[in-house]
Amino acid sequence: MDTASLRRTSYLVDNVRFPFCKGCSHTNILRKLNDALVELQIPAERLALVTDIGCIGLADGLFRDIHTVHTTHGRSTAFACGIALADGILASGQLHIIVLIGDGGAMIGLQHLVHAAMLNVRMTVIICNNFVYGMTGGQGSGLTPDCFITATTPRGNLVPPADLGGILKHSNAPFVVRTTVSDPGLTGTLKEALASPGFSAVEVLELCTEYAVPKNELTGRRLSEIAQENGWELGKLAHREGIPFDQKVRQAPAGAAAESPNEPPARVEPSPLDRPVNLVIAGSAGERVQSSATALGQAAASAGCRVTQKNDNPVTQGSGFSLSEVWVSPYPIGFTGIEVPDVVVATSEDGWNELRRRGTVGSIGPDTIVILDDTLTPPERGSIVRLPLRKTVTGANAAMAGALIAAHRLDILTEATVRQLAARRLGGSAPAFERLLTPVPAPTS
Ligand code: SF4
Ligand SMILES: [Mg+2]
Repeated sequence: MDTASLRRTSYLVDNVRFPFCKGCSHTNILRKLNDALVELQIPAERLALVTDIGCIGLADGLFRDIHTVHTTHGRSTAFACGIALADGILASGQLHIIVLIGDGGAMIGLQHLVHAAMLNVRMTVIICNNFVYGMTGGQGSGLTPDCFITATTPRGNLVPPADLGGILKHSNAPFVVRTTVSDPGLTGTLKEALASPGFSAVEVLELCTEYAVPKNELTGRRLSEIAQENGWELGKLAHREGIPFDQKVRQAPAGAAAESPNEPPARVEPSPLDRPVNLVIAGSAGERVQSSATALGQAAASAGCRVTQKNDNPVTQGSGFSLSEVWVSPYPIGFTGIEVPDVVVATSEDGWNELRRRGTVGSIGPDTIVILDDTLTPPERGSIVRLPLRKTVTGANAAMAGALIAAHRLDILTEATVRQLAARRLGGSAPAFERLLTPVPAPTS
């Protein structure tokens, strides 16, 4: 086949109709982005366009064949980070990720932009800075110039605008350009940004003809003067070498990360579970309640189950109660609330009192298995299993021991997997745990 015939002449949909107001600069920026893509000839399946809320966010419907993700306001960079890191670390790292965001979204999501720059995540962020929130009626943003008239600054903006390009430059971004939509070199700049290996940002000063132009002395030519008046340097603000974050992660020496004790044992037998079940595990902060629930959940997931986990503790992390609610199911889990618990595990007064306070004890049904440390007062209902958890395996291991006994009784894990997990998580207390597990104590009421 003639290779010339494979050349893409446009990435836009056929007979594209831009949805923007007459004269809106978004149209120009998108045309120039398309021109840059045509020059680079990046295969469409290797392009991911991540758009934000705002008029510029309508762009994803204008391109054809490429991946598009429309996100929440200000969060497009965060979504793009997820895509870039998943692609770069777990896959082949072939995607070119383009973020389209307005000035409003950029300031709402400033932290995301700063961190993407600091980490040097592979993406090109095009900030379409028309100084106002166009989609919602022309309100001022954090990038509205001094004295600029907007819907929220009818007598002129009194707040000095942020220097976004400067912030990104000083956040270690390898490639930052600020320019205007009138810049004849805009296509080349976008091309250079797209071809740069890590994080790149292009802030384009532009016109909202609906809300900004009518109220201000504003033309394409004035954009450079506005930049100057507000202390915004134009041109290439940063251009330096840097290793993209996904590459750094891939190159990190194997074994550098400590093995997580929550990881399941190497050999996990398939789960015999045939129905969704839930557990509420409660104890004291600092006694590994939530990490025990995580270890159980990870083992169940490795055994083929679906798992959800919700944690709670007071804002003081190291005192008071700690608890986890876990669902384990052979099927997809749609609802993670617990109306009647299948199993309640309580290992200390802190946890048990909290379960009383929040109504969990009151929701215990006649079939609920209640695995209690034997120092605690049993509830009126339920199938009560009182065990010397703390005395046998220590307070720090009581939640894991209770969770493992629950997993055994509910058929979440096979006995062999329970024993393996106990050996891994309970260390020197594992032999003592065997006395709790076998024989499984009979319910007392
Ligand atoms: S409101 Fe402003 S930003 Fe939105 S399409 Fe119209 S001119 Fe463009
Ligand atoms: Mg805007």
